[in-house]
Amino acid sequence: MKTILTGLRVNSELTLGNYLGALLPMVRLANQHSQDYNINIFVPDLHSIISDVDGDMQTNIIKSLKYYLASGLELGENVHIYRQSYVPAHSELCWILNCTATMGEASRMTQYKEKGEGKSSVNVGIFDYPVLMAADILLYSATYVPVGEDQFQHLELARNLAERFNHKHGEVFTLPAKTRDQAKFMGTDEGIRIRDLQNPEKKMSKSTPAENSKIMLSDTPEKARKKIMSATTDSFANIKYDMINQPGISNLLQIEALTNDLPLQDVISTWAGESKYGDLKQKVASSVATLLESFQSRYAEISDDMLYAELKKGEKYANEVANAKLYEAQKALHLR
Ligand code: ATP
Ligand code: MG
Repeated sequence: MKTILTGLRVNSELTLGNYLGALLPMVRLANQHSQDYNINIFVPDLHSIISDVDGDMQTNIIKSLKYYLASGLELGENVHIYRQSYVPAHSELCWILNCTATMGEASRMTQYKEKGEGKSSVNVGIFDYPVLMAADILLYSATYVPVGEDQFQHLELARNLAERFNHKHGEVFTLPAKTRDQAKFMGTDEGIRIRDLQNPEKKMSKSTPAENSKIMLSDTPEKARKKIMSATTDSFANIKYDMINQPGISNLLQIEALTNDLPLQDVISTWAGESKYGDLKQKVASSVATLLESFQSRYAEISDDMLYAELKKGEKYANEVANAKLYEAQKALHLR
């Protein structure tokens, strides 16, 4: 059985970008395919510590799992939830893959460049996390890894490392699908990138300090509404989808489509020729507020105990699968 795998860092609360770009697509895929795929949802606690952690890690972990359920994830026999650091094979394989990856390719990762921008010192974890991410994927021979568009480069890295390792040491790893096929599987043309509300040239990120740049899933609907109303737009007075010249307006159109589960083209046509940005903002603000209301009321219903029981089961499964794959890699290197 093939595997679909994803994870969301828990260094802080999640944003609407994480929800629309990663959480919701994963939940949809999981619910569609849990009969014929393994659905691995892991909490990348080790990835989370590459930056400062807001709040308490353990609380964040449980919150993040609740977010999947509040987004509609249905648990079942083939759905496995686990914490990365509870499966030590991730770190072990990361080291092995570090010896396959080159400084050149790791340095080319845009996430590394963006995260290090303007900082006088950057931890090695920020540089190396794409290799750990490759280990996360390859240990489970995952075919599909629904992530936002910003992570596609890391998926390509995972493919390259697997291919290089296999070439040198024998067929050990299954390559994840090409990013084009990943996007197709997720039902998008090119992956999703929700923009920063204040600087729409950049993507919305939970680690951006500016509060008005991002909508948090824990924001009150009223607060979220205000943030949408103050989003940066442009002076063209023309509602048009053009991410290059009008990224702010295009971002709002995209959010409107995704929050209402409408094809982007339909939303673009509805607003074509309109010029009042305030009207569009009102509409998007109310879509986002409605989404948060229902999301937050579902969230409040989920029990911690049930999640801990699921984690225990999931971690047993994950260790079995991961250790078997790690052993293959160790044998290929004559470490065993
Ligand atoms: P950080 O600033 O801490 O890196 P982040 O918002 O980029 O936070 P990640 O934990 O790095 O969040 O990514 C979690 C998932 O959310 C990934 O699949 C990533 O591709 C997706 N994602 C992150 N930001 C966006 C965005 N703006 N639009 C769509 N998907 C996103
Ligand atoms: Mg990120």
